[in-house]
Amino acid sequence: MDSLTMCMLCPRACGVNRNAGIRGLCGADNTVWVARAALHQWEEPPISGTCGSGAIFFTHCTLGCVFCQNRQISRREDIGAPVTISRLSEIFFELAAQGAHNLNLVTGTHYTPQIEAALRQAKAKGLTLPVVWNSSGYEKAETLQRLDGLIDIYLPDYKYYSSYYAEKYSHAADYPETAREAICEMLRQTGAPVCGADGILQKGVLIRHLMLPGLGGDTAQVLRSIAEQWGGHVLVSLLRQYTPFGMDDWPELNRKLSDAEYSQAVEWMQSLGLTGFIQERESISESFIPAFTGEGV
Ligand code: SF4
Repeated sequence: MDSLTMCMLCPRACGVNRNAGIRGLCGADNTVWVARAALHQWEEPPISGTCGSGAIFFTHCTLGCVFCQNRQISRREDIGAPVTISRLSEIFFELAAQGAHNLNLVTGTHYTPQIEAALRQAKAKGLTLPVVWNSSGYEKAETLQRLDGLIDIYLPDYKYYSSYYAEKYSHAADYPETAREAICEMLRQTGAPVCGADGILQKGVLIRHLMLPGLGGDTAQVLRSIAEQWGGHVLVSLLRQYTPFGMDDWPELNRKLSDAEYSQAVEWMQSLGLTGFIQERESISESFIPAFTGEGV
């Protein structure tokens, strides 16, 4: 993969030679590591449906948030198992055979060229499932353009409006404008959301915002900017499932979200006319975070 020789795939723009075994800030060299490939029931209803989403969790991450909910696989250690492009393509068919409503590629930005190749291989062999790109939103529009025509549904995070918080918690002051540009490119590719007769999303952009404790003001700005920029053309998922893990160094984030914080944000979302999904408190459990044992790899 030529683009890994001086890797500039994501906004970190490390320029390292991953083909020579050097790892960038994402922690990945040129080997694709997958931590889990299995049916997943805990996405939004039009993604998980009744049968589950065929989720493939890629190891490593370009963002590295201090509060990462998947920190077991997002850091520098290789977790799961290495896969070739052909094996990745096979996994797509195995998830389809298990009855997945879609393929759900979770945090694959740093493996975009390999995933692109695996998708092209699978589609040439007849793969027809909708493909979901489930990402942090910290992506270059030009890298996303490689996926044009291969991805049906984009599921990006929009984590922060404020570059202060983006720097403080994700070491990425450029996150807000980068995510907005990425979402514009995603929407250009998919157009407005379309669901099938079974209620399963077939194409479109669903923006996720994970609320953080004490950052309600930033959530308000995120929601307002979604309404202003993309209005009725995207779906929004307002997540309250934040769970602190090992946050002793970040005491302000070392608690769950309060009911009052979440209710206020739901009111903002509704008053802005945003369409999408909210989470009932009762529906939240640590099962949102699956076991990363290399299952299905
Ligand atoms: S994908 Fe990894 S190596 Fe490439 S620019 Fe981003 S962080 Fe650096």
